[in-house]
Amino acid sequence: MSTPDATEQGLIGLGKRYWLPVYRPREVVLDHGKGARVWDTQGRDYVDFGAGIAVNALGHQDPDLLEALTTQAGKLWHASNVFYTEPPLRLAQELVAASGFAERAFLCNSGAEANEAAIKLVRKWAASKGLAPPQRDIVTFRGSFHGRTLATVTATAQPKYQEGYEPLPGGFRYLDFNDVPALEAAFAQGGVAAVMLEPVQGEGGVLPAAPGFLKQVRALCDRYDALLVLDEIQCGMGRTGTLFAHVQDDVVPDIVTLAKALGCGFPIGAMLAGPKVAEIMQFGAHGTTFGGNPMAAAVARVALRKLSSPELLKQVARQAERLRDGLAQINRELGLFGELRGRGLMIGATLVEAHQGKAGAILDHAAAHGLLLLQAGPDVLRFVPPLTISDEELAEGLQRLHQALVDFLGA
Ligand SMILES: *Cc1c(COP(=O)(O)O)cnc(C)c1O
Repeated sequence: MSTPDATEQGLIGLGKRYWLPVYRPREVVLDHGKGARVWDTQGRDYVDFGAGIAVNALGHQDPDLLEALTTQAGKLWHASNVFYTEPPLRLAQELVAASGFAERAFLCNSGAEANEAAIKLVRKWAASKGLAPPQRDIVTFRGSFHGRTLATVTATAQPKYQEGYEPLPGGFRYLDFNDVPALEAAFAQGGVAAVMLEPVQGEGGVLPAAPGFLKQVRALCDRYDALLVLDEIQCGMGRTGTLFAHVQDDVVPDIVTLAKALGCGFPIGAMLAGPKVAEIMQFGAHGTTFGGNPMAAAVARVALRKLSSPELLKQVARQAERLRDGLAQINRELGLFGELRGRGLMIGATLVEAHQGKAGAILDHAAAHGLLLLQAGPDVLRFVPPLTISDEELAEGLQRLHQALVDFLGA
């Protein structure tokens, strides 16, 4: 084995040679971060408008997260679910209390796993009602994203994620997002056990549910005795200005899934189960080796406490306004964006027709100008900075974005 050269290109070469080529990262190697800033191995700095895909909600190197992790790392790394440890016990209690609806929590390691647990719970619940398998369908919506496992990618109503993985598991029906008549028709047809949706679609283009849509979905679920499953993996944990996004829609869900910012960078997921379903899965019905890992749970407890704080949530609303204003101002000059949409610090800027399909190219320019930015599909720029981003970091990020866009237009 030859020794790889330690230059940036040498390191990137390792990824190109040895990783399963399912990712195509921007060509920088990030090394460390602080707040909403990240540095690469070459010492260049970046303002972070992506937060590791809406994960690092408290920025990089939050001292309280670091303290929780290192303290737990010095005590016990893992015990699995055949013994109790304190962090996941307390985390479950705190998540249930914070949710206002849930009675129990299942801890796992990722968003896909949280949704997988939710899908299994829906089916088990339907089975407990005596419904045959064809009566256990879950409705999801076009443009959704629910994960990459075989069941969650099937729940994800976007063909591009599914192609070539057939045969896909059955039991999912796809409707247009915000289409109430279509949902009424699906219920009337029968066999719908649950509706699963993101209050703000993330990967699908940062698209919030229409005002009142969740309430109508809830009403239909009540009428037909079906479950409402909310995937708050991206929009939850304070991202939209409230700890849970759905409280702004004024609905009570049966199941909520969390991941991404729940660990603020440490892998963890959770499924929260309300009174209708909390006792459905009994001993042996589900499990995972790493679920409730004490290091992950210790970190998530701190994340939950800090992301619930009224000051932090006020800061989200304030910085969201500043970011939106900044984007609108850039757009008045450059005219690149069609629509600015989203909620809180989860903002999507659609590209006008002349620049559709070019989100990836814009991200390259952004990186070259010291800005980490995300897309949500080829036509939407996605802004999901740390919720703790400072005025100075935000202003600098906007300035770099402006330069990057000018550069993009001139190129
Ligand atoms: C990221 C995401 C998932 C999948 O989470 P993973 O941790 O990548 O498995 C599911 N749903 C939504 C809404 C997401 O944004």
